[in-house]
Amino acid sequence: MLNKAVKKTDRQSRESAQTVAVHSIETMGLVDGPGIRTVFFLQGCPLRCAYCHNPDTQPFEGGERMTADDILKTALRYKSYYGDEGGVTFSGGEPLAQAKFLAEVMPLLKSHGINIALDTSGYGQQKYYEHVLPYVDVMLLDIKAFNYFVFEQLVGAEISIFLNFLNSLEQYGFKGKIWLRHVMIPGLTNDDESMQKLVELALPIAHLVDRIEILPYHTMGAEKYRELKKRYRLQEFQEMDGAEAKLYEIYANKHFAAIYRKYRNENNKDNLEFQRVLEKNNNFLLATTLLNLIKAHAEIIENKYKLEFSKSYREILDSKTGINKSQLIRKIGEFKDLGYITTPDSHTIILEDLTTLENYRI
Ligand code: SF4
Repeated sequence: MLNKAVKKTDRQSRESAQTVAVHSIETMGLVDGPGIRTVFFLQGCPLRCAYCHNPDTQPFEGGERMTADDILKTALRYKSYYGDEGGVTFSGGEPLAQAKFLAEVMPLLKSHGINIALDTSGYGQQKYYEHVLPYVDVMLLDIKAFNYFVFEQLVGAEISIFLNFLNSLEQYGFKGKIWLRHVMIPGLTNDDESMQKLVELALPIAHLVDRIEILPYHTMGAEKYRELKKRYRLQEFQEMDGAEAKLYEIYANKHFAAIYRKYRNENNKDNLEFQRVLEKNNNFLLATTLLNLIKAHAEIIENKYKLEFSKSYREILDSKTGINKSQLIRKIGEFKDLGYITTPDSHTIILEDLTTLENYRI
């Protein structure tokens, strides 16, 4: 009798289990969040970005239906590759358009210790956000444009929904890190003013921002539009030069550090909760550790601070920053990439941009 009841409950729960339409799965993703990740591209997006290179993910019809258990099983198959930083990424389409499903699958993944990233533009089922966002470790947040007109032309939606999302993240319980991303289109946002606007928009969430990435616009998706017999709206625009986009990325990051220092001094100087969040941000931790090491150990050679250690500089930083090893290696790489430091050998760090590091000092 008991067995029968169990079987029935089991069957009922299977019948009532939610499913989500998955467009495709990438098992060893390296660009959709930190570390090695299993990326679930969910089918369906309410937006119509002119540069979308996956227009086949836009319709809500199609894709393969999966339950939360199916997703968990797939994620567990690759868990041994995830290391300290990797995990699962939900991308799309727009994953938050399936927030009701995410509210079921994310706690399940978390209960198995899986790190979760969410690649989003901030347009979805708002009423479920408070049940989704507390489980997100890293948010890849796409900032598409910086003014009402360009945003609407480019995306086909109002910027106000995005801004509400961005400004309410902590109210929804989000406590993770943010990677801000912007696809730069030549002739639309490749100028200093756009980068300044990007930084201004990000100020209220800046204590959560782990990096700012400028991605050069490319036309690789145009062919898909021809296949789908859809009009490609950016035909007039050239691809963005990668090296130029990198210079804008460096500019945006440095400007962000400078403006944010002023902003936090004015707004949050005595806010302990705010300070606590800041102390978990790897930009601030690494910069502060480097500055403390300068004080104790640096020599000035040719007008630059040079830190030289008998042990490898990674070991030194590993013992001092409190950042986990994989994150530290990634963060050092970013600091080098953005021109804050150089590391001529495994024992030496030369500080190249003291001003920006000072701006990140806690
Ligand atoms: S939000 Fe992403 S999936 Fe949706 S239309 Fe824009 S680029 Fe495409």
